[in-house]
Amino acid sequence: MADRNALGGTLVLGGGFAGGYVARLLGKRGATIVSPENFMLYTPLLPEAASGTLEPRHVVVPLRLMCPHAELLLGRATGVDTDHRRVTVETEDGMRTLAYDELVVALGAISRTLPIPGLADHALGFKSLADAIYLRNHVLRRLEAAAAASSEGHRRRELTFVFVGAGYAGVEALAELADLVRDALRHYPTLRDEPQHWSSSMQPRRSCRRSRRDSATMQRTSSHGVASTSASGRHSRPSSHTLQSSPTAAGS
Ligand SMILES: Cc1cc2nc3c(=O)[nH]c(=O)nc-3n(C[C@H](O)[C@H](O)[C@H](O)COP(=O)(O)OP(=O)(O)OC[C@H]3O[C@@H](n4cnc5c(N)ncnc54)[C@H](O)[C@@H]3O)c2cc1C
Repeated sequence: MADRNALGGTLVLGGGFAGGYVARLLGKRGATIVSPENFMLYTPLLPEAASGTLEPRHVVVPLRLMCPHAELLLGRATGVDTDHRRVTVETEDGMRTLAYDELVVALGAISRTLPIPGLADHALGFKSLADAIYLRNHVLRRLEAAAAASSEGHRRRELTFVFVGAGYAGVEALAELADLVRDALRHYPTLRDEPQHWSSSMQPRRSCRRSRRDSATMQRTSSHGVASTSASGRHSRPSSHTLQSSPTAAGS
């Protein structure tokens, strides 16, 4: 037996781009949205959130504002019973069961890890706001580690950043984080003249246009302190393009 019925009969699983817009466009007919967050993340601005150019709160849209006629249930859908038109949802207060007439499944995707040795174990994802904040802190920690490094080799490793996935998300994240590092280096006198190494890897012959739809994964190899991203993609090894930059070469 269901705890409640979806508003207007429509249950929307996921409050991302797809789910948020469906609920908004249903207008006064209403809908119930099930989402772990009460906001829609505007992913095109995620690289700016990672670099700190934008505040995290500026890259989200509150779902209650975006979909004023919808009802929001914070939680994660854990099961769908299509025979009885029921969905079970895990909420902070326990399990809930919702009945629906129409179901919209808009749960998004997860970052794929390509068959690249070490990627699955050491990658940092780049899909959520938490990922972006973590990545920013991670990059800044690498600068601290580089400043404290006792050998040139160690320092070089700490200042080497590899992005696996040279689609829109990967390239923009690389550019934003390179800017972040360039700005932050003003406060690290011992690192000012140290070159940084920014590397992006891509699938051969993939265009940026197609890659705009891809997700990306940021990664750090455990032994070398290298950050990288991996775009969801096919199963060949990516080719690599490396940019070596010093603060001067980067244009400051
Ligand atoms: C860094 C980055 C930059 C991008 N830039 C662009 C761009 O410029 N242009 C472009 O067109 N696309 C871009 N994209 C791709 C775009 O974000 C996706 O295509 C789009 O978000 C897909 O929408 P969606 O609703 O399917 O999934 P999402 O927007 O990912 O939404 C899925 C929602 O489902 C929720 N969810 C997951 N599991 C559950 C569960 N069990 N129960 C309830 N809710 C759940 C999630 O929390 C999330 O809110 C970018 C992606 C990234 C990562």
